[in-house]
Amino acid sequence: MVIDLGRILADIDVLRERIAPADYMLVVKNDAYGHGVDRVVAAAAAHGVRWFGAFDVPMGVRARAAAGPDARVFSWVTVTPPEIAVALDAGIELGVGDSSYLEDIAAVSAGRATPVHIKIDTGLHRNGVRPEDWPAFVARAAELEASGDIRVVGIWSHIAETSDEDDDRSRAAFLEAIRVAEESGLRPQVRHLAASAAAFARPEFRFDLVRFGAFSYGIRSTGGPELDGIAPAATLIATVSAVAGSAVEVSYGYLDGLPSTLAGRMSVGTPAGPRLVREIGPASMLIDPWPGAAIGDEVYLFGPGTRGESSVTTLAEAIGTVGEEIIVRVSPLVPRIYI
Ligand SMILES: *Cc1c(COP(=O)(O)O)cnc(C)c1O
Repeated sequence: MVIDLGRILADIDVLRERIAPADYMLVVKNDAYGHGVDRVVAAAAAHGVRWFGAFDVPMGVRARAAAGPDARVFSWVTVTPPEIAVALDAGIELGVGDSSYLEDIAAVSAGRATPVHIKIDTGLHRNGVRPEDWPAFVARAAELEASGDIRVVGIWSHIAETSDEDDDRSRAAFLEAIRVAEESGLRPQVRHLAASAAAFARPEFRFDLVRFGAFSYGIRSTGGPELDGIAPAATLIATVSAVAGSAVEVSYGYLDGLPSTLAGRMSVGTPAGPRLVREIGPASMLIDPWPGAAIGDEVYLFGPGTRGESSVTTLAEAIGTVGEEIIVRVSPLVPRIYI
């Protein structure tokens, strides 16, 4: 898989410009959406990105190592005290959507004024403090802040981004949660609600910071429009392993990557342009031939369209999923080549 780091930086530039003066966070969960967290974070940090978002602590630790001490790294999955200790040592700012987790962090922190981002559940019901529990939660957070165990630097939530109406309801709940938190004496400087789709389209969702994952890598939303100035950064390349006249076999070895349900519904990019994929097996696929096809010819399975291949989102749309799912299932054994 060839990763065009310059393309990621160009995509980031488009996003940063669009959301200014709100700040930009590069979300790097799932090994930077399969692009490789170490190289992607190092390039983004050198390009001036200040915020990185990791789902779990190990990914946060890698992001910290690649980004350097000045970056801010946010990690939001709830973890146990030993991992909290690791996060604090690495200077990772934890997202907190649960009152017993808040107590755990305060206990591990023990007077270190550990920065946290408190999370209200605005309707997704995944994680986050329910509105009815929020007043008691923020009152307790204010106590722990006064005692020097934590510092509430952020307030955040995550939204569905599937309908404007639902998102509007979530935004109203978010504003109310900010009001209640401020009434308790908290002064979180960083308010963040949206991910790629809502923040790109709707200015009122940007607040102080936007957590951009998919769009940073040029992965547009399923069913969503092409994005002006943004293009995919990853190209998955395999090679022709047999030519039979009526069909060409393309091997990808241990890739075991593309869903077999895509057979008959996708084209790949060949030296002669797009060709239909007829069959997808565990280690190879059969595609329509072209004149002069030869063993060793490169075939692009997905990418920005250089040879007529589809984007991961276009492939995802053919089988009712999202582009992220296509790219993150490419095996980590497939070498990433950075250009
Ligand atoms: C995945 C994720 C994001 C990024 O979402 P995209 O749609 O890929 O931009 C942001 N915030 C949270 C909490 C996430 O889990």
